[in-house]
Amino acid sequence: MKKYIVVLFLINLIFVSCSQKDGNMDLSNNPLLTEWETPFQTPPFAKIKDAHFLPAFKEGIRLQQQEIESIVTTTEAPTFENTILALEESGEVLTRVGRVFNLISEALTSKKIQSVAQEITPLVAKHKDDINLNDKLFQRIKVVYDKRGQIDLEPEQKTLLEKKYKNFVRGGANLNEEDKSKLRKVNEELSLLTLEFGDNVLAETNSFELIIENETELSGLPDGVKQAAAENAKARGHENSWAFTLDKPSLIPLLQYSDQRELREKMFKAYIMRGDNNNEFDNKAILSKIAKLRVEKANLLGYDSHANFVLEPYMAKEPKTVYNLLNQLWNPALKKAQSEVKDLQTLIDSEGADFQLEAWDWWYYAEKLKKAKYDYDGEVLRPYFKLENVIEGAFKVANKLYGIEFVERKDISVYHEDVKVYEVNEADGKHIGILFTDYFPRPSKRGGAWMSDLRKQFIKDGENITPVVYNVGNFSKPTGDKPSLISVDEALTLFHELGHGLHSLFSKCNYESLAGADVAWDFVELQSTIMENWAMQPEVLKLYAEHYETGEIIPNELLAKMERAGTFNQGFVTVEYLAACFLDMDWHTITDAKEYDVIEFENNSMKKLGLIPEIVVRYRSPYFRHVFSGEYSSGYYSYIWSEVLDADAFEAFKETSLFDQKTAQSFRENILSKGATEEPMILYKKFRGREPKVEPLLKRRGLDKF
Ligand SMILES: [Zn+2]
Repeated sequence: MKKYIVVLFLINLIFVSCSQKDGNMDLSNNPLLTEWETPFQTPPFAKIKDAHFLPAFKEGIRLQQQEIESIVTTTEAPTFENTILALEESGEVLTRVGRVFNLISEALTSKKIQSVAQEITPLVAKHKDDINLNDKLFQRIKVVYDKRGQIDLEPEQKTLLEKKYKNFVRGGANLNEEDKSKLRKVNEELSLLTLEFGDNVLAETNSFELIIENETELSGLPDGVKQAAAENAKARGHENSWAFTLDKPSLIPLLQYSDQRELREKMFKAYIMRGDNNNEFDNKAILSKIAKLRVEKANLLGYDSHANFVLEPYMAKEPKTVYNLLNQLWNPALKKAQSEVKDLQTLIDSEGADFQLEAWDWWYYAEKLKKAKYDYDGEVLRPYFKLENVIEGAFKVANKLYGIEFVERKDISVYHEDVKVYEVNEADGKHIGILFTDYFPRPSKRGGAWMSDLRKQFIKDGENITPVVYNVGNFSKPTGDKPSLISVDEALTLFHELGHGLHSLFSKCNYESLAGADVAWDFVELQSTIMENWAMQPEVLKLYAEHYETGEIIPNELLAKMERAGTFNQGFVTVEYLAACFLDMDWHTITDAKEYDVIEFENNSMKKLGLIPEIVVRYRSPYFRHVFSGEYSSGYYSYIWSEVLDADAFEAFKETSLFDQKTAQSFRENILSKGATEEPMILYKKFRGREPKVEPLLKRRGLDKF
């Protein structure tokens, strides 16, 4: 850790001396702007310095401006080639610089990188706006679009044309001047209101603290939780006490373990009342305005509701499809939750307590019941999941499904010593692409796990450009003499990200913007999540999950325990989540542009569903940040939609065999290689022969018997 800080410090020093020369830095020596004469044209990380980014970004913007200018000023009549294709191919340098920068800013950031990001983000945003609001450019696109019936276009060209045109239209390019200015006003108001909504939730979350001074009030809490609460108190300036806050890592353990029913109630109520306290941070009026403005915007653009507007480019396409899915899941989930209520009440009664289960009791009694019923602790599995073995296992699964090989390359430049590079080849040795992996946490890396591209596959001047992708994670590091032993969740994540990686690696598309994993967000998690299914199959575990000391393969009884515990409490989890999906959809399918009484609206919505009083919707409206200040409006359903898809798609393998070659070939051909060149539902039907069914997911969550 110490060594690391020194290195960062040195980088900053180098940067300071470099940055003074920023102005006259020679662009022809900037490795981000010169040809990459490296194996597979991977980025020459060793040569790229922080100070190269800003001038490279600016140069990339300048070049694309020039390209756009020549598209709109040509005297030739608009054609697919001189307009749509020219727009698609513009900005190559900016894209290349942006891709390297994205990786570094998320996986190896520093003060310098952050300051570049701050400087460049508004410039790039303005540059993108300049393109999207360029009326001359839109008029040329429109000419091509309007005569699409008369010109001879390949299906993929049609998709590209449609997508480019729609992007402009959805931004308001087709409106008259009066409506354009209305739209601008609505957008402006919305951006301020959604920001304020998020700030209020944050303020409400931070303003609450529960300080405990008497240790007896901590009864039931594990030592780790107590310790975290003590540190929390200290950091908040309270000596000799324990602090709990409304952040989930503090709230949930208290709800799970605290024997003090009043404390659980107090915390829970504080949590669910955020944004609804009629104080300066109250969100009710704000969200009512947001909902109204969203209808206005949708109407301006020609849609009945906000959900109709948002869903159009997605797999679901329209609200009806989403409701249909949610309805199929709701009843079984609610019935299972009702049976869980009974189990929990029985436990309460058996302890001699005299009260009815309330929402703030759920976590506590579920935890107790789980221990009594399953005696399962995921930690005992760790020794079987040595990181190197899990990587090997994931590669073996990909090999058995698709015949591909992963060959480690030590001759490719990396941005950090933890990074490994693999060449990915077909069974016959043909090169597919490059995979970078970067699995350990460090202070310069953001949390979570993700996949992205340093270069996407597409066809350029008749030549196939091969992809360069990366998987980044934050898995448990080796400690002392122990290797990296990862949790079951981390192992699943590793398989998941490799699934995204394969989506990009297997791409076989003509145009970059339609290629790889850039698909609708209710489709993009299928390709990744399906990989998780293989990870925990007994047949697959035998390939890789061996004890790091004894070499023993993971015992079957442990696996059986894990499986049984897997469906525990799924009624609650599913109902809590689905209720929030319904609430999101209800708010965004309103077609009257008027303000609503928020609490009445929410109550009606939950009443219609028949939500039971023992469960509160996962996010009540006044703190539903995903949909009122994040990107998930009318999209909160997409998490479970992906799960329906992956469970149903994996069923195709279970119906034949885990590594059935015909099924794997079809999955690769129809789902993994087509990018966004066709409608997701069409691709899915080509693979499965029908639309997805919910039954496999119901079974996985133990809801199928209800
Ligand atoms: Zn994912």
